[in-house]
Amino acid sequence: MPLPRLLVLSLGGTITMTGGGTGGIQPKLGAADLVAAVPTLADIAEIEARSPFRLGSSSLTIENVAGVAGAIRDGFAEGFDGAIVIQGTDTIEETAFALDLLIEDEQPVVVIGAMRGAEAPGADGPANLYAAALVATDPQARGLGTLVVLNDEIHAARFVRKAHTALTSTFVSPFLGPLGLVAEGRARLLARIAPTPKLPVPADAVLPPVALLKFAMGDDGRLVRALPGLGFKGAVLEGMGAGHVPGVIADMVGELAGAMPVVLASRTLGGPVFTRTYGYPGSEIDLLGRGLIPAGLLQGPKARLLLTFALAAGLDRSDIAGVFAPYQ
Ligand code: ASP
Repeated sequence: MPLPRLLVLSLGGTITMTGGGTGGIQPKLGAADLVAAVPTLADIAEIEARSPFRLGSSSLTIENVAGVAGAIRDGFAEGFDGAIVIQGTDTIEETAFALDLLIEDEQPVVVIGAMRGAEAPGADGPANLYAAALVATDPQARGLGTLVVLNDEIHAARFVRKAHTALTSTFVSPFLGPLGLVAEGRARLLARIAPTPKLPVPADAVLPPVALLKFAMGDDGRLVRALPGLGFKGAVLEGMGAGHVPGVIADMVGELAGAMPVVLASRTLGGPVFTRTYGYPGSEIDLLGRGLIPAGLLQGPKARLLLTFALAAGLDRSDIAGVFAPYQ
């Protein structure tokens, strides 16, 4: 029996970082180096290793990730059975969700990184790459969309969040938990979720700038007022609690929603944006009445990706509301 074929794409991140001292670690290694560091991968899959970027993940762009999605789609069309994307953990939750939206194929896509540099004692990169290969070659992972695998846990792209700056257990799926785990050299998938509705855009699509604003006590709205003049084509507002802003700026937020599609998310750790509970100025009922679109269970950065792709696909306001409907 031939081994499954895996496409491994490295974008950078701590997992690729070496060096240190006062200059700090930097992304130096490529996918082939990382694969070579885990000889047992040769028993699991035939691997093609590519290194499109060597970046800290805070420097990745949505265009970069759309290009990676295109490379994976092409790879699946060529016959790869699964794909692994290696990158920095800082933005894994965004890359994973973007790939989940952009890739319609059934083959598993697994995004991984590491919390410790490649030369650090107890480096977690090799173990995460090994676990990712087990998941990406497991037939049970087909049709689950993009997954994030770190610390032997398997998370769904839609729910996963980085929750700690340092611990190898940093990834969590609040109020859901991981879909499964890797133990004794095999993936164990314990739950399946409904697939994320796909919103593919061409790999070379022009992506419109979408702002993400988080509100805090006493916000006087000056950033909200500035957004249209800054060239943004859409905005995601991370309101307080279930989706609230200071009452004194509710008019301003309504004017913004008249100028561009505006999505209302929550700055809390979990739970849906409300739609029908609070009725005071700046509350969710007030803001949705002014034309904002509720993000549902999507956190701000993921809502921003969905809005970006919806705008890139040329959808109008009511179609955009429809795109967010499955997340309510
Ligand atoms: N700063 C790193 C990055 O996101 C963190 C990591 O990879 O864990 O590139």
